[in-house]
Amino acid sequence: MLRHYAIVPAAGSGSRFGGETPKQYQSLAGRPLIYYSLAALCRCQRVDRVWVVLSPDDRWWRQYDWTSLGHKLESVYCGGGSRSESVANGLRAAATAAHDDDWVLVHDAARPCLSQASLLALCDELADDPVGGILAVPVADTLKRADWQRRVARTESRDGLWQAQTPQMFRYGLLKRVLAEHPDGTDEASAVEAAGLSPRLVRGDASNFKVTYPADLLLAEQILQGKTRVDQ
Ligand code: C5P
Repeated sequence: MLRHYAIVPAAGSGSRFGGETPKQYQSLAGRPLIYYSLAALCRCQRVDRVWVVLSPDDRWWRQYDWTSLGHKLESVYCGGGSRSESVANGLRAAATAAHDDDWVLVHDAARPCLSQASLLALCDELADDPVGGILAVPVADTLKRADWQRRVARTESRDGLWQAQTPQMFRYGLLKRVLAEHPDGTDEASAVEAAGLSPRLVRGDASNFKVTYPADLLLAEQILQGKTRVDQ
């Protein structure tokens, strides 16, 4: 039987966020930010196991009690110097359980508002897909190209443009191979694309945004408050 495994790379320092505490441990509604990404994956019945990939010098993880997330969760201290390296190391840690045809969902630690509906849509829509794919949303805003003075050089067409989110879901064997061959992308899909394949875009929603700056925490908190009412 095919399984679904999740990998959450959480070895970044969150330099754009700033501060001493890494972004994934910033407090959001009384819990560290990463808790919500892990909880969404652990709660999902399709997901069999979840590996969280921490930096080898992470000193925050142990300060929290994660037992409420249950037996699916496993922490590994093998994060690398880039997101892609952290994911590749996480895949190595999952090797004892995963087979080449199993699905792997890679999800950012800093996307706390992932809904069960989007997670299930991703698994369902990609179930028979030969490549795999990602959650994404069509670009809604008008796009401006800036010049060096930060003035508008031109307006870009947004036709056919989508914003990539996570989870990104690919077969274990494929992901391991493409990340080894193309480690420079900012997401897993770019490594798959560099290998000549076209990941499918599964429509998600804008609430699954990535917390990047301190002001994003307030928006995430408001979304989570609404979600506890509708996403049960
Ligand atoms: O920095 P950014 O938000 O784009 O990082 C995306 C995800 O990749 C985060 O969950 C972050 O912790 C993770 N990451 C990692 N190892 C790195 C850099 C980023 O696991 N060296």
